[in-house]
Amino acid sequence: MKYISTRGKVNEIGFIDAVLMGLATDGGLLVPDKIPQITADELQAMSQLSYQELAYEIISYYVDGEISEIELKELIEKSYGTFRHSEVTPVVKVKDNMYILELFHGPTFAFKDVALQFLGNLYSYIAKKTGVTINILGATSGDTGASAIEGVRGKEGIRICILHPHGKVSKVQELQMTTVNDPTVLNLAIKGTFDDGQRIIKEIFADLEFKDKYHLRAINSINFARILAQTVYYFYAYFQVSKNKKIKSINFSVPTGNFGDIFAGYLAKRMGLPVGKLIVATNENNILERFINEGVYKPGEFRSTYSPSMDIQVASNFERYLYYLLDENSDAVTTVMEQFKSEGKIVVSKEQLRQVQADFAAHGVHGEECLDTIRKYHAKTNYLLDPHTSCGVAAYEQCNDASEVCVTLATAHPAKFNEAIERCEIEQTYPEQIQQLFSKPQFLEVVEADNAEIARRLEKHFTTAE
Ligand SMILES: *Cc1c(COP(=O)(O)O)cnc(C)c1O
Repeated sequence: MKYISTRGKVNEIGFIDAVLMGLATDGGLLVPDKIPQITADELQAMSQLSYQELAYEIISYYVDGEISEIELKELIEKSYGTFRHSEVTPVVKVKDNMYILELFHGPTFAFKDVALQFLGNLYSYIAKKTGVTINILGATSGDTGASAIEGVRGKEGIRICILHPHGKVSKVQELQMTTVNDPTVLNLAIKGTFDDGQRIIKEIFADLEFKDKYHLRAINSINFARILAQTVYYFYAYFQVSKNKKIKSINFSVPTGNFGDIFAGYLAKRMGLPVGKLIVATNENNILERFINEGVYKPGEFRSTYSPSMDIQVASNFERYLYYLLDENSDAVTTVMEQFKSEGKIVVSKEQLRQVQADFAAHGVHGEECLDTIRKYHAKTNYLLDPHTSCGVAAYEQCNDASEVCVTLATAHPAKFNEAIERCEIEQTYPEQIQQLFSKPQFLEVVEADNAEIARRLEKHFTTAE
C-alpha cells in the first residue's frame, strides 16, 4: 500500500512517511493509492472479533507490514487499554432501528480519543524506532486539543503545541487542555475562531523551511492515521447490530465539522462495509449541508452554537471526498481547489450532485432543535445526549427512512458540554475525572491570531534536536 496526494504532486510514500507528512507537501491530502476491498466472507470472519482484534485487521491493511504484527498489536492494545468500557465503543439500542454508537469512553470523553490515543502511540513508536524528533502542532475547536495532549503527554521525545479559540470552547474542554502541568505541552489561546487557528496551522505547515527545521507533525484530522483509526468503529458497530438483527445494510448519522469522521465512514463503505446512507449532521455552520443539498460548497458566516466542536466553516477533510467524487483525478482536484481559493466556492455538476446525494444525506440542526432533541430523548428514553450527538439524532430523525437501521455516532459525553445541558433544565452529575479538573491550576498563553507571533512562541517551545 502506497500513499499519494489528492493533488498528485507527491511521490508515493509508505504508511509511516504518510503519518509523518500529515498534510501533503503539495498542499493536498494523502490518500491510499488503492482502497483495500474486503469481501463478504472476510467480513463474516471479522464479525466476532473484539474491538482490538478488529482494529488490528483493519489497520494492518493500511500499515502493510511497515510495523511488525507484534508491535502493531501492542500499539493497539495500549491505545484502547485507556478506555473505560471493555468494548471500547459500545452500541446502545435506543428504539427499533435506532442505535447509538458511544465513542466517548476514552480519557477525554470525546470520540477523538479513538484516533488520538492511537496516533499518540504511533508517534511514540516512530520516535523510538527512528530517533526523529516529534514536535506536534495542532489547532482545535475544543476536543482535539485535550485528546491530542492526552495522547502524547509524558511520552519521550514528543512536544506539543495546541491552538484553541480563546473563550470559544466549553469550560470542561478548556480545563482538560490547560490543566496539564507539563513543560512539553504549550496551549495557545488565540483571539479568533477555530477557522483562524486551522488556517494559521496550514500556513505554518506550508512554510517548508520552518516545518523541516522544527520537524513539525500534524495531529489534525488531515492526518490519515486518524481517519484510519476511525474506520474501525463503523465496522464494529455494523457487527454489533447484526448480531441481533438480520440486516442488509446500515445507515450512519454523523455529527460533522471537518468531514473527518464521516469520511472514515465513507472509506469503510468503499472498503466493502454494507453502508446505506451516510447522514451528515451539522449545526448552523452548515456548509456541508448546503453542499450536499445544493451542490455548492461555499463558506458562510461563522456562528457560535451549542455544539462548538462543529463550529467549522471550511471542512479540512472535504478534499479527500472531492478526490473520489472527481474519479481520483488529481489534476481536476487541483483545478477545483485553486478555483475555491480564488473564487471562494466550489460548484459541482448535476451528475456529480446525483452521486453526492447517493452517498450522503444532510441536515443542519438549529439551536432550539438541538436542545429540544436533548430534552425529548432525556424525557422519553432517559438517554442524555450531548449537543453534538443531539445534532446527529435530529438529522437521523430528519433523513432516515423508518424501515432502515441507523446508527448515530455519539461523539461526546454530555458532561463536556454542560452549558447546553443546563439550558435544557437538566441536571447532570459529572464523572469523577471531570469533576476534579475544576480545582486544578491552568496553563495557557493568550495570543493574537497572527502567524509571526505564533511562530515566535513555537520557536521557544519546540526543540530542533535530531
Ligand atoms: C470533532 C468533533 C466533531 C466533528 O468531527 P469531524 O471529524 O471534524 O467531522 C463532532 N463532535 C464532537 C464532539 C467533536 O469533538
